[in-house]
Amino acid sequence: MRNFPGLAPYAAHPYASRGRRFPEPEAPTRSVFQRDRDRIIHSTAFRRLVYKTQVFLNHEGDLFRTRLTHSLEVAQLGRSIARTLGLNEDLVEAIALAHDLGHTPFGHAGQDALNASMRAAQPDKAVAGDDWGFEHNLQSLRVVDELEERYPLFDGLNLTFETREGILKHCSRSNAERLIGTDPSGVARRFVEGGSPSLEAQLCNLADEIAYNAHDIDDGVRSGLLTIDGMNDVPLFDRYRRQALDAHPTLKGRRLLFESIRLMLSDQVYDVIDCTRQHLETSGVASIDEVRALRKPLVGFTPDMAAQSHALKQFLFRNLYRHPQVMETTERAARVVSELFTLYLERPSECPAIVAQSSVSPARAVADYIAGMTDRFAIREHQRLSGRNLFP
Ligand code: MG
Repeated sequence: MRNFPGLAPYAAHPYASRGRRFPEPEAPTRSVFQRDRDRIIHSTAFRRLVYKTQVFLNHEGDLFRTRLTHSLEVAQLGRSIARTLGLNEDLVEAIALAHDLGHTPFGHAGQDALNASMRAAQPDKAVAGDDWGFEHNLQSLRVVDELEERYPLFDGLNLTFETREGILKHCSRSNAERLIGTDPSGVARRFVEGGSPSLEAQLCNLADEIAYNAHDIDDGVRSGLLTIDGMNDVPLFDRYRRQALDAHPTLKGRRLLFESIRLMLSDQVYDVIDCTRQHLETSGVASIDEVRALRKPLVGFTPDMAAQSHALKQFLFRNLYRHPQVMETTERAARVVSELFTLYLERPSECPAIVAQSSVSPARAVADYIAGMTDRFAIREHQRLSGRNLFP
């Protein structure tokens, strides 16, 4: 096996990639994963992330995270951990930048509404290829495999197996079985047969969680829905707030918040590095295929950090994601999505995706079209077709 500078034996080595769905001559100066990353950055779906909600609607403020800035933060955290562990930074970056491409407008409210609409529109689950409702991980894969239209010879971005493996983070067994039927590359196989994705993919999952826990505290305080003092009972945050105050007793307000989050982020990064190193050593894995054969992921927090991170997540769920003010907005957003879905199916000529796509059902074409929308385009389209503005 050829050596690749800086890569550990268990990393994803570019020359050992399982390849692309459509064979292509590779670039002379870039590795396959660099090329995947570059294709993702140039895609239409990537540019749309800037106008898609993470938690707060895009038009609620200019400084809140969007899907784009969230994805950049995941890439930053992932790359910095990857470099220390000898993993493939380019692959981590590609997966991180693509991991949310399938998200609907309006965050999880949009996804739930679209899923409910799809299920109601297709009571007959026997319709081949069309019975999976709507799920953003599957949709992210669909974006890079089918929906992007940039290349003369194939649909999608024709990414490597490894990037696609990382993008398909979760998948139900029935969806996996169907995917295996239509896509023999085997990217869904592990959800049926067991096994793990690459360490780079495992790392992106954890970097995603670290990123949103931290930036949702920041955005929550910025919005006024959370306060620094209101987080005294969240052990993970409180620990770093105390550390920040020990070092800088007069620190308050925004700088106290940022310093606490900064300390929390670096401690979590070191925790992942130490804990993962230990797992790597104990498991003795010496190649990506040995990583894939394991039932349990090797990248992770220590049990103590995992428990505290989980507690923080629950706190954010109760106090931010389910805050009445957030819920009020997300309920309106869900109405925009489900009413748009019905309106397009009633008036197919208004939906360019139904007109253009003959290979999928009208419901799937509408779901693809709505999922691709930015928040403001969805609001505008809803107003155009319904005559009502739910976000005046
Ligand atoms: Mg994410």
